[in-house]
Amino acid sequence: MNAVSSATQRHRVRAGLLSRPAAAALAADPNRPVLASLLAGRLCGEGMLPASLGLPETERDKLWSTYFPGPRLALPEQAVDDIPERQDLVAILLEHRAGRFPSELWLAFIVAMACGGRDHLWQDLGLADRGELSQLLGNAFPSLARQNTGDMKWKKFLYRYYCARDGIYVCPAPSCGECAEHAQCFAPET
Ligand code: SF4
Repeated sequence: MNAVSSATQRHRVRAGLLSRPAAAALAADPNRPVLASLLAGRLCGEGMLPASLGLPETERDKLWSTYFPGPRLALPEQAVDDIPERQDLVAILLEHRAGRFPSELWLAFIVAMACGGRDHLWQDLGLADRGELSQLLGNAFPSLARQNTGDMKWKKFLYRYYCARDGIYVCPAPSCGECAEHAQCFAPET
């Protein structure tokens, strides 16, 4: 599928998901359009998430029936290497959840799963662009996202937060401004 037809397909699938009749309270969830984009991206073969999205089967089914009632789309299965820190990342995200919508719980698992990918986090999630990821993190985990004051790459930021919280300092310089790795952490995520 070329880039144009992939974008068209994503747009079509996303619009179809958002036209499904979710309960009014959940239709207002700002995470729902991002979730729809993520699912549409996965359906188009983008990202690294498995068909489970990193969720236990019952939770995956609950996500679909809560936010996109109707037939569950068959996402392509793909082998994914798990990462040992996945549950710790879930816990960090949940510590910072906004507490407004059930999507936040599922997104914590999904985002942590995608941290095991090799690309930028928004790409590993199968999102359309970095802006969708910033929106997701800002809405679902606001007190964590706000701490990324320097607009660090999101995966770098999450791992730096994770390591620093446990007293592990792997950075080669005392501050980012003096660091030879600056571009690795802050260059645009395109
Ligand atoms: S720029 Fe250097 S000091 Fe800052 S987070 Fe990256 S590796 Fe650490």
